[in-house]
Amino acid sequence: MADISGARLLARNLRQQGVEYVFGIVGFPVVPIAMAMQREGITYIGMRNEQSASYAAQAAGYMTGRPQGCLVVSGPGVIHALAGLANAKENLWPMILIGGASPTDQNGMGAFQEEDQVGAAKLWSKYAHRVETLDKIPYYVEQAIRTSLYGRPGPVYLDMPADVIDGRIEEDLVPIAPTVGDPPRTHAEPESVRQAISALKSAERPLVIVGKGMAWSRAEDEMRQFIDRTQLPFLASPMGKGVVPDDHPLSVGAARSHALEQADVILLAGARLNWIMHFGKPPRFNPNVRVIQLDVSPEQIGHNVPAEVGLVGDGRAIMGQFNAELADDPWSFDPETPWRVSIAEKIAANEAAVAGQRADESAPMNYYRAFRDITEWLTPDDFIIGEGANTMDIGRTQMANLKPRRRLDAGSYGTMGIGLGFAVAAAVCNPGQRVVSVQGDSAFGFSGMEMETICRYNLPVIVVILNNNGIGGGPAELPADGPPPPNAYLPTARYEKIAEAFGAGAFYVDDPADLRAALDAAAALDGPAIVHVKLNPAAGRKPQAHGWLTR
Ligand code: ADP
Ligand code: MG
Repeated sequence: MADISGARLLARNLRQQGVEYVFGIVGFPVVPIAMAMQREGITYIGMRNEQSASYAAQAAGYMTGRPQGCLVVSGPGVIHALAGLANAKENLWPMILIGGASPTDQNGMGAFQEEDQVGAAKLWSKYAHRVETLDKIPYYVEQAIRTSLYGRPGPVYLDMPADVIDGRIEEDLVPIAPTVGDPPRTHAEPESVRQAISALKSAERPLVIVGKGMAWSRAEDEMRQFIDRTQLPFLASPMGKGVVPDDHPLSVGAARSHALEQADVILLAGARLNWIMHFGKPPRFNPNVRVIQLDVSPEQIGHNVPAEVGLVGDGRAIMGQFNAELADDPWSFDPETPWRVSIAEKIAANEAAVAGQRADESAPMNYYRAFRDITEWLTPDDFIIGEGANTMDIGRTQMANLKPRRRLDAGSYGTMGIGLGFAVAAAVCNPGQRVVSVQGDSAFGFSGMEMETICRYNLPVIVVILNNNGIGGGPAELPADGPPPPNAYLPTARYEKIAEAFGAGAFYVDDPADLRAALDAAAALDGPAIVHVKLNPAAGRKPQAHGWLTR
């Protein structure tokens, strides 16, 4: 039988294990791997910075439900991609990073781009290993993919020395690895499901929090059924949005602070009480709140707030258990309670509080006015990406998600610069669907050159830049004497011209009266575009009872 190269063997095994998409940057020694990937039927997307490539790989993993790949060169390539490993570890998203490495016979000699890559990757991965010999490629790929996918998902790393990539082996001599199946869906103890239901029945002000663990476990049908059966109010976490549609009458999204402050029993489903949720502590939460917690990870149960009931297992499986219990013994929360009434009042008050800003036609415009047109223009099928401080926070409250896993943002790690990498992944993994990335000017700047990637592959990505002249709102003009303030970016910047440079649609809007027409014109192109929206740099978020806990 014929012999096969290490590069080809790696590509073949990745394909066997369900890797369909790889985002990367080629160079020594990984060019043969990228070429072999294409021959093995993997879609290889060449990016402009390893950070974005690693962000793209993890978003692709989250959306497809299998780890997808990132391919980078040795040394600096791997180091740049660590940003993505850290983000994936924090968001609990699967991905496999493959780093080229200097040849093993030069180890320790000061080889070109020599680095302790396995050591570096270990800090931010569930599994990191060097592939020492060609015959072990299938073994390591299987182990890496399984570790990335099973239990709590997360990033993994494989180190590929140049001599393993370029080496050849008799194919018959290579032990074949089994194909990793989808993760087992473990159920909770039946008794704990019954305890959870009786705790919910005992509540005066119950609340369900739907996190991205539920999105990851594809629990949308079960969760929707549970909410409809029980009539319990629910709050989606930032990326839990869309598991149950944001326009569902039981969504408390527009009364988030009120619902969290007042709830006496919370079903925390696939979400963490971390900084995003103020650790589950007062004043954001009721000091006596009782928590029922559902998580795939046993050690997460009781984190920061003790759990009255712990439901350990897969989100979709456990919501199915709830529904089966409730089918046998139906119960629903009384819609006429003061709790439901107070939530409805708070939602109305919050909407009234921003109505003035939404209607404000002055130029340059404020955030709420910009989002008025953007939300009316979006379609329910759009993939929505958000990043930037105010742009992301306000956008999260204004842009509805009606379908699961169609919102991607800076997430649990608060990473800026993810937007264009995520946009590339959303477009590549969902052919024919539109991606809208609404980003601040600062957020856009981190990875702006990925516009070239978007244009090269002609991806239907519309980037809407809400420009407030810098980080958290820069000055209207740079000071005539003295250096620019640290948070300022060039007030005269014309970011849309970056799209023009690569042949994409370029729109600049400084009067709110022109915004809708620009968005429509961008959509009509059916290809990439930037819509650059000039904001009043003093515009901000409506006053918050509790700001983000970023101190
Ligand atoms: P959010 O930002 O929406 O709060 P987090 O990333 O903080 O979400 O938390 C998600 C939680 O979901 C994690 O604690 C994780 O262990 C859990 N999780 C991941 N996969 C599953 C699954 N299949 N079933 C249930 N929970 C899961
Ligand atoms: Mg800004």
